[in-house]
Amino acid sequence: MADNDDDLVDYDEEEVVPEVAKDAAAVGGDGKESKKGHYVGIHASGFKDFLLKPELLRAIVDAGFEHPSEVQHESIPQAVLGGDIVCQAKSGMGKTAVFVLATLHQLNPSAESEDVQVLVLCHTRELAFQIAHEYERFSKYLPSIKTAVFYGGVNVTQNRDILKKEHPHIVVGTPGRILKLARDKDLKLSSLKHFVLDECDRVLESLDMRRDVQEIFRMTPHEKQVLLFSATLSKEIRPVCKKFCQDPMEIYVDDETKLTLHGLQLYYAKLAEAEKNKKLNDLLDALEFNQVVIFVSKVARAKELNRLLTECNFPSICIHAGMRQEERISKYKSFKDFNARILVATDLFGRGIDIERVNVVINYDFPDDSDQFLHRVGRAGRFGTKGIAISFISSEADQTILSQIQSRFEVNIPTLPDEIDMSTYMST
Ligand code: ADP
Repeated sequence: MADNDDDLVDYDEEEVVPEVAKDAAAVGGDGKESKKGHYVGIHASGFKDFLLKPELLRAIVDAGFEHPSEVQHESIPQAVLGGDIVCQAKSGMGKTAVFVLATLHQLNPSAESEDVQVLVLCHTRELAFQIAHEYERFSKYLPSIKTAVFYGGVNVTQNRDILKKEHPHIVVGTPGRILKLARDKDLKLSSLKHFVLDECDRVLESLDMRRDVQEIFRMTPHEKQVLLFSATLSKEIRPVCKKFCQDPMEIYVDDETKLTLHGLQLYYAKLAEAEKNKKLNDLLDALEFNQVVIFVSKVARAKELNRLLTECNFPSICIHAGMRQEERISKYKSFKDFNARILVATDLFGRGIDIERVNVVINYDFPDDSDQFLHRVGRAGRFGTKGIAISFISSEADQTILSQIQSRFEVNIPTLPDEIDMSTYMST
């Protein structure tokens, strides 16, 4: 791996506080596949009504999308017309397809120059990778359209070669690396037509990332389409988002109280720190799961818990910010491809990541704030499938945040019962 660490700001690094977890956990599960829930929605329209290019409609059929979700129904007709959009809709409802389809529909590679036409920025490398993959999936019948993905942790010369030789029309990446390529003039943004920020509140809330994004933005032409998306978009950040846009259409599909989460069961278990492993062990034994994500607070804790699980021959893998980039992506792929059923992760993995078979999320360490809770539990129950999220509460701070979550999202999170009816979190 090349170590150009100066431009490898990952924005997600966490401080490392080693803490040894005790006991190992045991894992069960029966390998049942989850089926996608139906999202027939309140709109009877189909993707055909959006009058997209036939090549895109074919790819949509191949992807198995039957009906547009509400956010797609609300946003795609506007987005294909080229106007700016600020869009908030709950996680797992297909926001990615909105900007992927809208930008692909508007691209006309034969008529365009060789410069980049679409730039998508997001906050983690895994998400960048996932978005690039969506572009590939939906452009399969548009063979002349090329997509590239650039993020830190990979040798920058490889990025330069790709830009020089392949002239991608679409570039997806994290702000630090994209800024470097743009400053060095390897990435030319002077013909850009579409500027997309995914998980835009996360990208713009952190000041270092916002500065990078602003500098990139200033290198793009005045006339372009700006598309901003997030599952959470607080009232405070909305004006910041709108500054990037010209007279944007604002689409807020859910108000905050509706964000949590159709089909998702939420529970908590109060216990002492030292009891967490035993409880995890019992849960993994008792729950039927397709795939489970276990969130911990620190890199060191992720490593330790993963070590304990694997030591006991449990097929867990681990993703955290301390890993080399190739390793992070390969772990992510392996989980997505169902080669492992249990993932131990830090918040790095929370947002935006879409693994459709995840039906159980365990907050081994409770998140620091209510937004993060939402992003974590949103990993289960994607696109209307069922799921369950269980949180360990072991301190007063945890308890306080739990209360905030309940009042903010108007949900009642009960204590974990001794037995849970499987049909509430397994899609049948
Ligand atoms: P979001 O960005 O809103 O969190 P994603 O774009 O990651 O959600 O989509 C969540 C999942 O739903 C993905 O696996 C995606 O392929 C799937 N999906 C999106 N739109 C549809 C649709 N109209 N029909 C069926 N599945 C869909």
